Amino acid sequence: MAEAAQAENRPFQTEVRQLLKLMIHSLYSNKEIFLRELVSNASDALDKLRFEALSAPDLLKDDPELGITLTLDEDAGTISIADNGIGMSYEDVIDNLGTIAKSGTAEFLSRMSGDAKKDARLIGQFGVGFYSAFIVADEVTVESRRAGAPPEEGVRWQSRGEGEFSVEAISREQRGTTVTLHLKPDEREFAENLRVESLIGNYSDHIAFPVTLVSGDDEPRSVNTATALWTRSRSDVSDDEYKEFYKHLSHDFADPLLWSHNRVEGKREYTSLLYLPATAPYDLWNRDAPRGLKLYVQRVFIMDDAEQFLPLYLRFVKGVVDSSDLPLNVSRELLQQNADLKAMQSALTRRVLDMLKKLSGDADKYPGFWKQFGAVLKEGVIEDAANRDRLAKLLRFSSTHSAGAEQDQSLDDYLGRAAEGQDEIYYLIAENHATALASPHIERLKSAGTEVLLLTDRIDPWLVDALREYEGKTLVDASGADVAASGAGDISKDAFENEHKGLLKKIRKHLKERVETVTVSQRLVDSPACVVSGPDALSPQLKAMLEATGQALPESRPVLEINVGHPLVARLDAESDDERFASLANVLLDHALLAEGSQLDNPAEYLARINRLILEPVAADTSDE
Ligand code: ADP
Repeated sequence: MAEAAQAENRPFQTEVRQLLKLMIHSLYSNKEIFLRELVSNASDALDKLRFEALSAPDLLKDDPELGITLTLDEDAGTISIADNGIGMSYEDVIDNLGTIAKSGTAEFLSRMSGDAKKDARLIGQFGVGFYSAFIVADEVTVESRRAGAPPEEGVRWQSRGEGEFSVEAISREQRGTTVTLHLKPDEREFAENLRVESLIGNYSDHIAFPVTLVSGDDEPRSVNTATALWTRSRSDVSDDEYKEFYKHLSHDFADPLLWSHNRVEGKREYTSLLYLPATAPYDLWNRDAPRGLKLYVQRVFIMDDAEQFLPLYLRFVKGVVDSSDLPLNVSRELLQQNADLKAMQSALTRRVLDMLKKLSGDADKYPGFWKQFGAVLKEGVIEDAANRDRLAKLLRFSSTHSAGAEQDQSLDDYLGRAAEGQDEIYYLIAENHATALASPHIERLKSAGTEVLLLTDRIDPWLVDALREYEGKTLVDASGADVAASGAGDISKDAFENEHKGLLKKIRKHLKERVETVTVSQRLVDSPACVVSGPDALSPQLKAMLEATGQALPESRPVLEINVGHPLVARLDAESDDERFASLANVLLDHALLAEGSQLDNPAEYLARINRLILEPVAADTSDE
């Protein structure tokens, strides 16, 4: 026909092509999820139309009953999902079904490994949406017309999912969208009444619009109750329904860890249904990524990603808020100015924190959650002063008490083990767990049995800076100059200094360009020396980070602490040759810097010194012969 002649072929965006390939390969064992994705899209399209109809009621005039119809044709091997929702124009179709608009897509795709199981999980976090149709179909046809547009502005999109699609203008009487899947020969079960009927219950019970199943000559059957899930009472909703609804909302493949469903009555009336996911989305660390709750007002969908209801650090929470008081025409801007918003935000934040508190008592689930989201909760300690104490209870650390690098100790665990009268919570910040554990700074504390928290996340310097204390106990940097050396014996620092005055003076002379001063250490047991920064100096981690951002830093030199009981220091003390003394003193400092994970300013010079020292005794031996 004439229409076909006007069809234009277009290539998919590269990312779509990659996604299609990966998806078909790796989602094979989850193939039935295509139905959830397409029913979700249909439901979203109905939500959007109802929203637009608030200001343009005519849009609904000739076809006021919003709904979704599934039609099966066993003989033809097709299943179609039709909605009379918002629909798409010619341009919409090209944009929506030819590209992926999400930011970070290319980066996400590059993380795919080729291992189907792993990739399936990753793709699950990304959300496959419409394209999942190609898991079971070898050809997909979409016909659509934008609500409010005349019949001749219909559009047909068609593709075999291989690299390109075709679009053409058609005439379409009905508003909304029909997606028809021509099933692959092996997937024809999805055109069978019994198979689809057993699936669709799951995928449609929580949908707020009627879903009708049509197959063969049977009477059309309604397959859901068509009431929005969150409007039902808690006791009427099964766990499976809550889980399914979460998947519909989030496009996550995995079950949520926990949810909380509440109706608030009184001055402000609203219902919230909040979920804690089990895995972080691929774009958790992209601060511009969409986040927030789905907002409804009196069951009418208003907007996705309403980020005003929760603070940034709870951006991983998924869910719905349905308000009875907000105006139906509320926009993002109006929402921002709404007098009730602040109160709702703090109530919802508290609700999430209560869920987290509950979850933190679950020894099976919390470790996994902490691994995924722990660093985000640390942002909360920094940003949310009002809830700092609640958040502090949720923190987990690795420490000298635990066997491995696992972050599994709470501050309460720490205090439970602390010695009577210990008023400090010691921590050490380092590049990684091995460096922290081997750090000379904590030798004395360790040998005295005093626990030290080992902090290795990028955010930790800010975390301890914000937290400062917990349950009246001060957080103390174990590498700081002012750490009281518990168990150091009864000789005072001054007496020590006096006893070794000569040696200290001599080292100071040789290292005066590199250190602030040299002192006798009371914190070292096994190591010959360590460097510490004064109470006001920046930690090495903070320094490295600031340097990386190109900030000019005030010149500051470390304090070198030496372990006068160590044989290397004794060796230094006994050295009469001035040049060799200088070499040894420098190496002592270099090693102290390396041990804390710092970079040497001049590695070449260090290597030359070490090489000289290694060769020396050999030279001496040869000359002896
Ligand atoms: P997502 O739903 O995550 O945005 P999809 O790939 O599922 O991603 O869909 C892409 C876009 O195509 C949707 O955002 C929507 O704009 C449009 N779309 C998909 N299905 C429909 C539909 N049934 N009616 C109207 N628009 C749709």
